Amino acid sequence: MDTSIHAVAEILRSSAVVACLTGAGVSAESGVPTFRDAQTGLWARYDPQRLASPQGFAADPGLVWRWYMARLAGVEKATPNPGHLALAEMERHWPGFALITQNVDDLHERAGNTNIIHLHGSIARFHCQRCGTLHNLQAAERTAPQPPRCATCGGNVRPSVVWFGETLPQSSLTAAVNAVSACDALLVVGTSGLVYPAAELPLIAKRAGSRVIEINPEPGPLSALADVTLRGRSGALLPQLLGIGD
Ligand SMILES: [Zn+2]
Repeated sequence: MDTSIHAVAEILRSSAVVACLTGAGVSAESGVPTFRDAQTGLWARYDPQRLASPQGFAADPGLVWRWYMARLAGVEKATPNPGHLALAEMERHWPGFALITQNVDDLHERAGNTNIIHLHGSIARFHCQRCGTLHNLQAAERTAPQPPRCATCGGNVRPSVVWFGETLPQSSLTAAVNAVSACDALLVVGTSGLVYPAAELPLIAKRAGSRVIEINPEPGPLSALADVTLRGRSGALLPQLLGIGD
C-alpha cells in the first residue's frame, strides 16, 4: 500500500461522517460515454445546445428525445464497476454517507447506494416540460420517434436532466451543501474540471473543516485544494481504500 493510499485510509478511519462527490470519470469506467464522447456518428453534426436545452427541445422535440433515448439505452447496457460498489459499501459503513453526483445515470442506485443527490438530474426519470408532472415510461414510448404527451396538460414529456441554460434543482444543491458542510472527509472522485456550482462544494467542505481527498487520473483545479490526492482509476483505488480489492 503506497503512502498516499495509507494516508487516505487513515483519514477515513478517523472520520465519523463521510461524503463523496462523483463525476463523469466514475461512469466512464463502466463504459458510459460523456455527453461529448456520445456525440458520434449521426449525432456528431449537432450543436450540444440543440440536443440539450429548452430551446432545442421546443424547436425539435423528436430530435432531443431520440438523442436521450439512445443515451439511456447505453446507460442501461452498462453495469456498476468496482468503484461504484465500493461507494455502496461506504454507505453501509458510514451512517449518513451522502453521495453527491454530477452523473445523470443510475449506476450508483444500481450499485446499492440509497442516499444519492443528483446535481444534474437523472436520465432515467421523466417529467412534463410544461407542467412538471412526473411520468413513468412504457417501453413503446421510449422507442417512439417523438416524446410522449403529458396526460395532465398535453405538453411534451422530457428526461429529468439539467439542460444548458437551466439551473440546478435547488433542493439538490441545498442537500449537497448541507452534506459537505457536515462531513469530516469529502472524497471527490472522477472529476477534474468541476463546473460551478459543483466546484464550490469542495471549498465549502474545506472551510467547514473537512478534509478533501481527490481521486482522479489527471490533475485539475481541485488538486491544489485537496489534502491528499490519489492518481488513478476510481474502480481500482476505491476498493483498495476499503481493503476489499487489490
Ligand atoms: Zn403536463
